[in-house]
Amino acid sequence: MARYLGARCRLCRREGQRLYLKGERCYGSRCALEQRNTPPGEPKLRRQKPTDYAIRLRAKQKARRIYGVLEKQFRRYFEKATRMGGVTGENLLQLLERRLDNVVYRLGLATSRAQARQWVRHRHILVNGRIVDIPSYSVKEGDEIQVKDKSRNIAAIQQALEIRSGRGTPEWLELEGEIMKGRVVRLPVRSDIGEDIEEQLIVEFYSR
Ligand code: SF4
Repeated sequence: MARYLGARCRLCRREGQRLYLKGERCYGSRCALEQRNTPPGEPKLRRQKPTDYAIRLRAKQKARRIYGVLEKQFRRYFEKATRMGGVTGENLLQLLERRLDNVVYRLGLATSRAQARQWVRHRHILVNGRIVDIPSYSVKEGDEIQVKDKSRNIAAIQQALEIRSGRGTPEWLELEGEIMKGRVVRLPVRSDIGEDIEEQLIVEFYSR
């Protein structure tokens, strides 16, 4: 499965804000934005006033990068969101939020979505008692997500749970930390998704 392999801090510099792509390092003074908060690339290009197109493009790129989704797949999510009825931007965010790698991250079983994706790909995660190794798997209401028995003593998973336990679990999820098990209580709504994403600009980007 294709994924971005370049420097992740560069993506944050491009968006001008922390996207929390590298786990705990992102929360402290070791964040690369602390040292250099300028967009990568030619200084001449950096000074240009952004066009409407550029503003919408940046909104789309930011959301795509936060969730670690490549362009083609992101567009597929958008197309699905338009077919769902209701508010397209909110549908899009819900689809992204329901990805299994995101749910593992939200439950605090990983310090970043990239790490969560690794747990899924390495077959450490069960959904309703069966191994699911597809990071884009879309969870449903009532699904149970659990670290498999043999993987519970992996130090990195235990550390992630310890570190992230102080940050709480979103209302749409439920966590039983001792057994590394979570449940989807209901599907997420916009107010559950704290990310700073302007979904309306994304809709305008694809509707141009
Ligand atoms: Fe972004 Fe984290 Fe790198 Fe900071 S440390 S620039 S938040 S990926």
